[in-house]
Amino acid sequence: MTRHDGAEDDADMRPTFRLGRIAGVEIGVNWSWAIVFGLIAWSLGARVFPAEEPGLGWGAYLAMAVVASLLFFTSLLLHELGHAVQARREGMEIEGITLWLFGGVAQFKGEFASAGSELRIAIAGPVVTVCLGAFFIACSAVGYLPKTVAVTAAWLGFINLFLLAFNLLPALPLDGGRVLRALLWARSGDFESATRASARASYAISYMMVTGGLLLVLSADAVDGIWLALIGWFLLGAASAETRNLTVRAALAGLKVRDLMVDDPITADPDQTLREFMDGLAGAARFTAYPVVSEGRILGILPLARVLERPPGDWDDVRVRQCMLGTGEVPVLEDGEDAVQGLSDLAAGALHRGLVLHEGRFAGYISITDIARFLERSARPARPA
Ligand SMILES: [Zn+2]
Repeated sequence: MTRHDGAEDDADMRPTFRLGRIAGVEIGVNWSWAIVFGLIAWSLGARVFPAEEPGLGWGAYLAMAVVASLLFFTSLLLHELGHAVQARREGMEIEGITLWLFGGVAQFKGEFASAGSELRIAIAGPVVTVCLGAFFIACSAVGYLPKTVAVTAAWLGFINLFLLAFNLLPALPLDGGRVLRALLWARSGDFESATRASARASYAISYMMVTGGLLLVLSADAVDGIWLALIGWFLLGAASAETRNLTVRAALAGLKVRDLMVDDPITADPDQTLREFMDGLAGAARFTAYPVVSEGRILGILPLARVLERPPGDWDDVRVRQCMLGTGEVPVLEDGEDAVQGLSDLAAGALHRGLVLHEGRFAGYISITDIARFLERSARPARPA
């Protein structure tokens, strides 16, 4: 699966902890993955492997379950690395790979250069998975390997090919949905209509999965049914996020960061004490955060919440500089940058606000709320005068 960092901010897909870098790509894990990892290891060790190959000791089942879960985890990672490496070849910037509840997701910034580019990035992951599936099946078929190894390899081959089939369903944001969109886009030359058509296919598939899942719960297998319905529900949300993203992109098309920024915000001086800063605000409208600027150079952002966290008794002793977030901790944008790109930079930061530079000097301040207000205004139909 791949994902653009855009207007949507999916907290549940963000990494909870980071594992490090592979081939220059940041690898993270969301807490929800720990649940899946535990469930898989448990069901393999307690149910799948004992049913497949009875008579081995519990130690053997445990070892097989742990090894199989780790290799499964590695397979998902390699699939996402396939997308990420191809995306980088196509000149896109990679934000990282996160493993979460429903598998892996590779996040990158920017627009696809062309339909061909999206197609190659979408197909790179499944190509890796086909190779992995074939490799594990071949291992399981080699005659002289110990039973434990052969059974583990057989399961890994099966799960990789099963996921491949699921992943190739033509539903966004699955790889099959991306392939479908790229093909429609190549045929019509229209990214927007291709996205809308693939989103319709996604809705149809998602509703079938939810309905099928609920029927399964009622008739036979509750666990599989709930799982299927949940995945359908997730796909439904993801597909509508794609079309919402499209609307945002269309509304912001052609705009630059400077068109949406506030160019004369109230700023804070780094050497002021918090008391002086707060006294200076008296009577003025309050904002959530203030840029910290000294002689045209930006030093950071002072969130009001950080000031209010401190007891007012300390305000005389603490300077703005000691309380602010430095420029390393907040997005810094160029005023000539595309508004769509700026929005995804802001969405990636925790504060949802950023500083804007013009030729290295402070030029303004921008927040997601400002952009949302702009979108609201532009979405409202103009009233006849
Ligand atoms: Zn994928």
